[in-house]
Amino acid sequence: MQRTEYPLLSPSLGSQKTLVGFHFGAPGARPKVYIQASLHAEELPGMLVAHHLRERLEAADQAGHLRGEVILVPVANPIGLAQRLDHKPMGRFEFDTAQNFNRHYPDLAAAVLSDAIPRMGADAQANVAAVRELVGQWLKNWQPSTELESLRRQLLLLSHDADLVLDLHCDTEAVMHLYSEEACWPPFEPLARLLACKAVLLARESGGGPFDERLSGLWWQLAAGLRAAGVNAPLPQACASTTVELRGEGDVSHDHARQDAQAIGAFLEHAGALAAQAPPALPPMACQPTPLAGSQTLHSPVAGVLVFLARPGDTLAVADVVAEVIDPTAAGSARVHAVRAEVAGVLYAAVRERYIVSGGEVGKIAGATPFRSGDLLGA
Ligand SMILES: [Zn+2]
Repeated sequence: MQRTEYPLLSPSLGSQKTLVGFHFGAPGARPKVYIQASLHAEELPGMLVAHHLRERLEAADQAGHLRGEVILVPVANPIGLAQRLDHKPMGRFEFDTAQNFNRHYPDLAAAVLSDAIPRMGADAQANVAAVRELVGQWLKNWQPSTELESLRRQLLLLSHDADLVLDLHCDTEAVMHLYSEEACWPPFEPLARLLACKAVLLARESGGGPFDERLSGLWWQLAAGLRAAGVNAPLPQACASTTVELRGEGDVSHDHARQDAQAIGAFLEHAGALAAQAPPALPPMACQPTPLAGSQTLHSPVAGVLVFLARPGDTLAVADVVAEVIDPTAAGSARVHAVRAEVAGVLYAAVRERYIVSGGEVGKIAGATPFRSGDLLGA
């Protein structure tokens, strides 16, 4: 195991932040698995999972059980982690730019398309190696001018050539769920089983340039770009990437984290990154995958005190009351507004605050029928 510090660009005199990566196994060994936590810096369950997973990986390393390469970055966003306002953590948007830390990653397929065209041949694995080399070169040539860009570049330098990428997040109050591109679902079905996901949200592409989708999107988007350019060469989906939502922000406990680290460890065995005496037993799926385009984000048209009648994990029918918004100052019967499910499915996430403004978000339901288009992720 090697612990490596990666300094970020210094944004100001006398200031320097550092990313820390733990490297297990031989560099270049396959599969390469990249795992990071808390890119949204106030989402801490992943940080604790990384702590427990590190123990597991160190033990495997000492026992000679590392078959592939694993890179673990337990604190993926030191910039956001240090941001506070009014005694509260502010780790989702960078103060300087108001940009979401998990959006605006560069379009890697577009970045390397023209250079990839003359490099493609009949050998799929050689094509994969050429694309990884081109992306690595493009990232090395990228001269970031801000601390935030340097963070994005460093995270991509560590992960761009991985076979499997797990980006560990959480929602505000939520049950275990994950997001992935459709192209990545087959390799992640075992992970969803092991983590006992209560919702799986799949999209061809969610939009907005999140970290995970830039890594997996590279392959199917580049393959499409090559076809459009008349290049007939095999290019497989060489990276599967997922955003794992480890329940809610308050779900930081050793019990959860040990259980989740164990599930991820079993997934690493299943994927062949860790040696196993026997293949890990895969429990049945605890849910059916649903399209992200079918997920309804509930909003309240009125302001007031938010009182939930349903909890994350509940299965709802259309018109079920999810929450009441109460205006104790209203005249007459307008005091209570019911927020109802407009799609049937599992309520997989809910907000934490109990005061809501008009237009505010209440929660999310994993509906089975697509009805949304465009950018599918929230702010
Ligand atoms: Zn997040």
